[in-house]
Amino acid sequence: MCLPLLRRQLLNMSYKVLLCTAVVLAAAVSADKPNIVVLFADDLGFGDLAVYGHPTSTTPNLDKMAKEGLVFTQFYSASPVCSPSRVALLTGRYQTRSGIWPGVFGAASTGGIPHNETTSAEVLKQAGYATAIVGKWHLGVGKNQTYLPTNHGFDYYMGIPYSHDMCPCLICFYPNQACFDKCRTGDTPCPIFENTRIIKQPADFTTLTATYTNAATSFIQKNAAGKTPFYLYLAYQHTHHPQFASKEFRNSSIRGTFGDSLSELDWSVGEVFKTLESSGVADNTFVFFTSDNGPSLTRQIRGGNQGLLKCGKGTTYEGGMREPAIAWMPGKVTPGRTMELAATVDVFVTISKMGGGKIPTDRPIDGVDMAPILFNNEKSNRDFYYYYPFGPNPDDGVFATRYKQYKAHFYTKGGLAGKPYRDEDCWGSTPKTKHDPPLLFDLVTDPSERHPLSGKVYEEIIKQITDMTMKFNKEMTWHESEIHGSNSSAMPCCKPGCSPFPTCCACGQEIQQHLFSPALELL
Ligand code: MG
Repeated sequence: MCLPLLRRQLLNMSYKVLLCTAVVLAAAVSADKPNIVVLFADDLGFGDLAVYGHPTSTTPNLDKMAKEGLVFTQFYSASPVCSPSRVALLTGRYQTRSGIWPGVFGAASTGGIPHNETTSAEVLKQAGYATAIVGKWHLGVGKNQTYLPTNHGFDYYMGIPYSHDMCPCLICFYPNQACFDKCRTGDTPCPIFENTRIIKQPADFTTLTATYTNAATSFIQKNAAGKTPFYLYLAYQHTHHPQFASKEFRNSSIRGTFGDSLSELDWSVGEVFKTLESSGVADNTFVFFTSDNGPSLTRQIRGGNQGLLKCGKGTTYEGGMREPAIAWMPGKVTPGRTMELAATVDVFVTISKMGGGKIPTDRPIDGVDMAPILFNNEKSNRDFYYYYPFGPNPDDGVFATRYKQYKAHFYTKGGLAGKPYRDEDCWGSTPKTKHDPPLLFDLVTDPSERHPLSGKVYEEIIKQITDMTMKFNKEMTWHESEIHGSNSSAMPCCKPGCSPFPTCCACGQEIQQHLFSPALELL
């Protein structure tokens, strides 16, 4: 055999050996690493799901997930409002560390999640995962879309990057029924981004959930077929105001408008589970469902329900931050109910470890691993939690602290409820009150925070909670606020420089046809 031919055959062999090795490694990686799906509802209260006691909600898919999975009864979001809650979910750190305070981003915001924050998508991408977010981002858009998810570890993004009431609200129900509010008429119409490009403006709320679901299930199918471990973060606009629903779900629930919105969300959850099954990856996928903050009581019967908890969105009472949460992984997650303490900051640590990712060691991480609760029916790694309010500041620090079954309120403030609501502690007009000495409740015997403790139990517990809170406040590093910057020219517009602004920002195409032809092929 001539030498050049021999060399070529050897090279071919080496290539084949390499290829085989790569295939074997890929198979090993995909077999070892579970897929991860985080389903995130918006403004869904502790009492909104049937499995949490709501008598007229229709959520068969979440009911099934709960029956087969683990239902948390003491699970907390990091904030009673959207943006800070989301940054904590994605970074495992309280929102103060990343500057996502006070309040939330709007369409005209110029700031966003700092680039030196490390998201779960960045950790899992480094560990070999395909990563995607579908839905509400709410951590900034910024100049040249610098803060959008594809610049923070996600391979793919599709969705409205903030709340859908941060735009003019037009049609919420099929075929042409108006929303119950006009929302922000001076802002640009709600954009749907794909990665960093607007593909539709305004969004069509009557098809939005189907569009999100299609994106999510396509991502699952694509990566299941390619045997690539995947991380999907599906952040619904439901059940935030204004509630909306497609033709199939309008008037589908006896609970009214909120019930229709919730039923559509539940349908989408069911489609995700169906796709996991049909793609053959259900047995190796961890699914976690929760919500960003409590119900918007100002919407009255069109808002959600906090069940037996006190107040709702915007407050540090339990109704503002204790959330429904369900974990599911057949054969791995122990089915049942747990009273163990856990929080959204823990999701970052839990899924990063699950995926074999490297958790940053150069910064404080507030989350702990939920694995003992999830897989071994053991005690939680946390016995405390700190509650930051809607608009925190370094002088006040946290408003409340939970330690074991006890909760101390150092400050309280009203939330977003209006005066018809029966409890004036929840009203928007109720000012900040400093409690010195602090109020103390036993949440095991008094989850509704009705009966402040006193006497011997109070004396025994309050000093311990006060000391730990003072220490926590002292050690907290507050990143400069990213929320303050705002400029109407920063509002997303598919026709930059058009007139009359902002109504001229209108573009559209058939999203269903467009999706995943070129962009998802890249994953
Ligand atoms: Mg919210």
